[in-house]
Amino acid sequence: METINPKLVEIKIISEASKMFGIWGHDQAAEITYYGLHALQHRGQEGAGIVASNGQALKLHKKVGLVNDVFNRAELQKLGGRAAIGQIHYVVGENRGQENVQPHLFRSQTESLALCHVGNIMNAHELRGQLEDNGSILQTESDTELLAHLIKKNGKKTDEKAIADALKQMTGAYAFLILTEDKMYVALDPHGIRPLSIGRLGDGYVVSTETCAFDIVGATYEREVVPGELITISDQGIESVRFLPQKKRKLCAMEYVYFSRPDSDLNHVNVHASRKRMGIELAKEAPVDADVVTGVPDSSISAAIGYAEESGLPYEMGLIKNRYVGRTFIKPTQELREQGVKMKLSPVRGIVEGKRVIMIDDSIVRGTTSKRIVRLLKEAGATEVHVRIASPPIKYPCNYGIDMSTKDQLFAANFSHEEMVREMGADSLAFLSEAGLKKAIVCDDSMNQGICTACFTGEYPVKPPQASKVTQC
Ligand code: SF4
Repeated sequence: METINPKLVEIKIISEASKMFGIWGHDQAAEITYYGLHALQHRGQEGAGIVASNGQALKLHKKVGLVNDVFNRAELQKLGGRAAIGQIHYVVGENRGQENVQPHLFRSQTESLALCHVGNIMNAHELRGQLEDNGSILQTESDTELLAHLIKKNGKKTDEKAIADALKQMTGAYAFLILTEDKMYVALDPHGIRPLSIGRLGDGYVVSTETCAFDIVGATYEREVVPGELITISDQGIESVRFLPQKKRKLCAMEYVYFSRPDSDLNHVNVHASRKRMGIELAKEAPVDADVVTGVPDSSISAAIGYAEESGLPYEMGLIKNRYVGRTFIKPTQELREQGVKMKLSPVRGIVEGKRVIMIDDSIVRGTTSKRIVRLLKEAGATEVHVRIASPPIKYPCNYGIDMSTKDQLFAANFSHEEMVREMGADSLAFLSEAGLKKAIVCDDSMNQGICTACFTGEYPVKPPQASKVTQC
């Protein structure tokens, strides 16, 4: 019997660190941030936190757990405030303690400073060493704390210049939200590898890593944060400077392929629409004679609809996801864990039995899930299973905040095409080309809609500094 590593099955793909939401100028800042974080819960389940400002002081509440478990009405009322920043947290590696949940709050005699961050600081190791050599004592393993120490170096006051000077020392992919008693700052790396948008809610401003959070809180989308931009929001309004020259946009392609919610727009492109186009391009590139098209819920459904539409085959719900299964990898025995995996995805026998099935998946990282699903479909009576992947093969690690940092974990990096087909037990396998992916995401140069495709191509837009140890936040 095949042994499945249920932890890999559970997370399916990597999982990106953390997402965040901020608001300025609203009487229910903490409550609105709670709802914003709720909309981003799909991006991390390890912890959540909010820091709110009432103009005189910052208050923090954070804990390990789901947004719903971390906050209740009383906690939100205690936070109060007219401005807030918050984060939902995904933990990479062993950094599961509450001390690593963000935002981080630092107090001094003159002012307080709260920060949250998504992405990966590639020269964190060097910066940490330099700070420690100069007497700083860091309390967490998070890259976010580094920025606080760099800003406050030599007793500086937190202002635009101190933040810009600190950001200039960082290399990598990052988006930061920073809150003081009287200002909120928003910053994005020069390539804009992580998404970040600004919206309006009444007279106030909201900021989010995904626009779906704007819809949930009733805000309207205003604009993208420009790569290399530092925005200051206060009661005096909004100001913007470039702390580094804007470079060609390299927004993470996996945001479109897998991470983001289908109702989010990233850099003016709707995620569902782009996934549907990935399915259309895939059907043009890799047609196959079959009876029915199905998608792996939830992130592959849009691509499966596109594939079915283009191929003229019926789209059917051949797989059902049970939303009430807990986290399978924490079950105490291997037997229970495997049962948990089986409970999570079920084939619909009445749909697939006696049929030649095209199974659309958004991506393959470790290959474990795809293998499992092919087997489930065949056990349910599918006569053939043709696997079609709505993105190119992932062959290279990500250095920019996505937890796939070693090549030996990657299915497509370690097996030939024929070996992958055999390992999966599929009747055929095809991936979308890089050109097809770019066409689906639009990538209009006149709108600076370029994407990062480094995990498919090995062409990294930001090179790690020499001798740097790449760490994930
Ligand atoms: S390497 Fe892949 S996962 Fe990482 S930022 Fe680029 S596209 Fe996204």
